[in-house]
Amino acid sequence: MDENNVISPEQATHTFRLAEESAPECIEFLRDLVTIPSPSRGERLACERVMREMESLGYRDVHLDEMGNVLGRFGSGPRVLAIDAHIDTVGISNPTHWKYDPFRGVVSGGILYGRGASDQKGGLAAVIHGVALAARIGIPDDFSVWVTATVNGEDCVSLAWQYLINETELRPEVVVVSMPSHLGVCFGQRGRMEIEIVTRGVSTHGSQPDRGTNAIYLMSPIVDALADLHGELVTDHPNLGRGSIAVTEFSSQSPSLTAIPDESRIHIDRRLTIGETPDEALAEIGALAAVQECQAEVRLLDYNQPSWRGFAYPTDKVFPAWETSIDGAAVGAAMSTARQVLGREPRIHRSKFASSGCATAGLFGIPTIGFGPADELHSHSVNDQIALAQLQPAMAFYAMYTEIYQAATSDRNP
Ligand SMILES: [Zn+2]
Repeated sequence: MDENNVISPEQATHTFRLAEESAPECIEFLRDLVTIPSPSRGERLACERVMREMESLGYRDVHLDEMGNVLGRFGSGPRVLAIDAHIDTVGISNPTHWKYDPFRGVVSGGILYGRGASDQKGGLAAVIHGVALAARIGIPDDFSVWVTATVNGEDCVSLAWQYLINETELRPEVVVVSMPSHLGVCFGQRGRMEIEIVTRGVSTHGSQPDRGTNAIYLMSPIVDALADLHGELVTDHPNLGRGSIAVTEFSSQSPSLTAIPDESRIHIDRRLTIGETPDEALAEIGALAAVQECQAEVRLLDYNQPSWRGFAYPTDKVFPAWETSIDGAAVGAAMSTARQVLGREPRIHRSKFASSGCATAGLFGIPTIGFGPADELHSHSVNDQIALAQLQPAMAFYAMYTEIYQAATSDRNP
């Protein structure tokens, strides 16, 4: 498709000018968002701020759902696109490691610093303002564009979209996730799952350890075996590489610090590449000799934490890898839009991180693409940051995507 047939140079220039005019307002909104801490399950104030911004920009049907996600739309056509950003952030780790207060929204040298700046408050601000620009330019009659500002994304990356698809009427034909892609087009990601292993021993007095069975000693060879297994995973994907295994927590219980622990637990963050299934990944761990020898319990974890609205939606902690065809309209339109916005060939890639795409594409098979400002390198790290110059092109992307996508699908079934 030649994108110049869709968006004329005049129209593109007009969109860029509108994005330029809106950029200061978008930056102010982003600074506000960064100054409102919004850990997973504690997003209420940030949700209220998002609703106010949507209402002031003229969004229709702005509402909170029962989980606490904020939704609003422009357009009222039967074909639905959704543009998603999660509102919540991870914690800040050690505050003394930050160059600037993570909740002040300090801007220095064109960079805004603060928790969530890259993941995904920058994307969220750009989406809300960008889709409002789309409405000013004119959303195609046959489309509705929903902005989904979702919660619990860091705690359980697929939860909000499992809820939206399973429990509401929202049925987008394409989802755009405003992940920090550094203005590149992302068309796939690794998935992940969370696994727990429990070993059980027999407690006795710490002065006579040989009389008991130390559950930590049972677990230690399992930890070593997992480290080895990580290096031996065979399924390789040309771009995503192999999956990975990381032990991220090791705990134990004993009646006293002067007693032998009778139970030990580890938590495993298992990243899945395309070609690996959750069942196989569990079976692989269950088959380890160290696991078999002590009959350790290996189990997939579930998520059952209530959202900030007190709504629990239990689910397994399995977030599949996903990939959207690069020959399809969703990716083609994303590339055309990014080309328009950047004035150069955009980077196209798959990402090692997880996002809402693990639900929209991984679980439900909805063509999904990622595009957003900021670099994923800064996500979850101290000195989380976003280059403010990326907001304007991101806004222009969200403003133009629907029209370009419409043209890309005009000669085929949606
Ligand atoms: Zn994150």
